[in-house]
Amino acid sequence: MIYADNAATTKLSQTALNAMLPYLTEGYGNPSSLHSVGQAAAEALQSAREDVAACLNASPREILFTSGGSEADNQAILSAARIGERKGKKHIISTAFEHHAVLHTLQKLQKQGFEVELLPVGSVGTVIAEQVRAAIREDTCLVTVMFANNEIGSILPIAEIGAVCREKGVLFHTDAVQAAGHLPIDVQAQNIDMLSLSAHKFHGPKGVGALYVKTGIPVTPLIEGGAQERGKRAGTENVPAIVGMAAALKEAVANLGETAKKMTALRDQLIAGLAKIPHSALNGDPVNRLPGNVNFCFEGIEGESLLLLLDAKGICASSGSACTSGSLDPSHVLLAIGRPHEVAHGSLRLSLCEANTQEEIDYILTETPKIVERLRSLSPVWHDLMNGKRQFIL
Ligand SMILES: *Cc1c(COP(=O)(O)O)cnc(C)c1O
Repeated sequence: MIYADNAATTKLSQTALNAMLPYLTEGYGNPSSLHSVGQAAAEALQSAREDVAACLNASPREILFTSGGSEADNQAILSAARIGERKGKKHIISTAFEHHAVLHTLQKLQKQGFEVELLPVGSVGTVIAEQVRAAIREDTCLVTVMFANNEIGSILPIAEIGAVCREKGVLFHTDAVQAAGHLPIDVQAQNIDMLSLSAHKFHGPKGVGALYVKTGIPVTPLIEGGAQERGKRAGTENVPAIVGMAAALKEAVANLGETAKKMTALRDQLIAGLAKIPHSALNGDPVNRLPGNVNFCFEGIEGESLLLLLDAKGICASSGSACTSGSLDPSHVLLAIGRPHEVAHGSLRLSLCEANTQEEIDYILTETPKIVERLRSLSPVWHDLMNGKRQFIL
């Protein structure tokens, strides 16, 4: 099996597993307990907090452990909204191609009387700091812009956007779930007030993530109960998962440059090879792009059929986000970069990790064009395009 769906989730690393095992067995204490078994767990928790903080150039007190990226996004946005509300500021700026964890939280706030402005992302799929500057108003309480897009891989100019927000005195949150462990992050140099990350996107376990919150920003708990996470997130901490996340992040950050170099080379071969398929187009920023992300549209085919045939050939890919698959709506990300519905339906995302090999890339490049050709030969839409009854878009 060739696994090329690392933007959906990644395999747990051996390092993370090894770090977790003692806390799944003998080190089962509750970090809130005063006895030695509990205190050993509390120490592991503190050490994980220090490691995660160091990877972001934050201080340990600024790291809040959550159940993953979605929870971190929800908490950051809802906290900023509560802060804004108290000052009579109810305008929020974001982008049209955020993850649903952000977009659906913003929709909830809209129903509560907030005004949400989604910046257009253009055909390449990015926003520039000047767009953010132009959108900021007296009553803006939050700018939330993703670090890198999970479907099309575009990397956004986060430091510049952060600088504009800082200058204007507006809170800045970034969903860095696709960036953490893959791109250099420095919350101080990049002017970030709040940042979300998720362990299972960088070879950590599922169901654990973190929210960085700059000192002095009051966050609202989503879960009420005990005083864990300094009162910001109740519930007995998932110690093994948190320890695994810290180990995975530390490892990913230590190898970041080397991994990115290897993955970029494989990614660019895939892009060059798939671009040879007639009536295809690369989605996302060709330059400022996640090292492992490849995303194409192929005219005249359905992405779902392509995925099934690739799977039959032992290739695990995606048509976009795992969260939207199963629904017949085309990806909101592809619509946001201006792909028409017909074309957005025929998309393919291949997302690599350091474990992918040259042989795997060669195999994907042999099989994919054959499958696209076969699907096109069966497609009434493709026949209409060939007969001139329909106009090609790509
Ligand atoms: C995966 C992902 C999330 C959600 O993270 P979970 O830990 O699965 O809740 C949020 N944002 C982006 C950009 C993602 O890729």
